Amino acid sequence: MIATDWPTPITSVSGFGLDKYAITLDIKRDDLIHPFISGNKWRKLKYLLEDAQKQQKNTLVTFGGAWSNHLLATACAGAVFGFSTVGFVRGDEGVSNPLLAMCRLYGMELRYVDRERYRDKRLLFDELVAELGHKNVAMSHQAGTPSLQLPYFIDEGGYATEALDGCAEIIAELPAEYDHLFCACGTGTTLAGLALGMDRFAGPSQGKLHGVPVLAGGAFIADNVRSLYTEANCELHLDYHFGGYAKTSPELVDFVREFCAGTGILIEPVYTGKLFYAVFDLIRSGYFEPGSRILVLHSGGMTGLLGKYELF
Ligand SMILES: *Cc1c(COP(=O)(O)O)cnc(C)c1O
Repeated sequence: MIATDWPTPITSVSGFGLDKYAITLDIKRDDLIHPFISGNKWRKLKYLLEDAQKQQKNTLVTFGGAWSNHLLATACAGAVFGFSTVGFVRGDEGVSNPLLAMCRLYGMELRYVDRERYRDKRLLFDELVAELGHKNVAMSHQAGTPSLQLPYFIDEGGYATEALDGCAEIIAELPAEYDHLFCACGTGTTLAGLALGMDRFAGPSQGKLHGVPVLAGGAFIADNVRSLYTEANCELHLDYHFGGYAKTSPELVDFVREFCAGTGILIEPVYTGKLFYAVFDLIRSGYFEPGSRILVLHSGGMTGLLGKYELF
């Protein structure tokens, strides 16, 4: 069961030659929130679930690729908080992997759609609403108290303005001030939420916010961030995608291995590996003033390892 009385802990990292640069490096351990409603996925879902409850919806409908941490987080959250779940998976019928198997175990109904159909998520949702509507009408003619399915739309990756409030709370939990805050970016929702949190909770001496896009052409993330939160003030580091989403290099793999063994904190090559690689690379290239205090958000997502285990 998920606890709601955080703050999540902070772990300081030493070694790796960091003392040479007089840098303090702390990690905000959102990976410890829950193994499968992982890190930022819980932060983003929290108020969406509350909204769904308020609207008396009982079926969460969402979208993702075959390795989507968000699909699994939604499946698990549905099981924990008493929602049915439907997940539209971008891919061929019958594609399976350990992550999708866990989605099924948590009771999620998986519906496979091709790339073309996947593009229009609202249409997929509307079609499902119509289909469930027919079913509901049919059931309402039956005796007893049939459970009508009332669907609630959650965009891919939890992309939504409701997600910002949950992510903003990360800033409210920080016990100290930092000069720099870093997070990994897929859609930029987490980054936008942190930007909101800085304005809401950090006060005028707030540090600088940084995002590390994990996919190529990550400049679109700046547009996403601004469309979610127009006041957002942050810098994107666009050169740490290693060729694209879920792409890796031997250098990245070596870094992930060294980091895990050297800190006892697991990271994976899809999101947090690229994030920490970027931070260490910036430290070594003299990007930060000596004495800087850096906080890195560990956004969880360890199930990403399941798709990459052959690398290790
Ligand atoms: C999904 C995910 C992200 C991306 O978050 P956005 O809010 O979409 O930018 C970052 N880290 C991990 C571990 C994730 O699973």
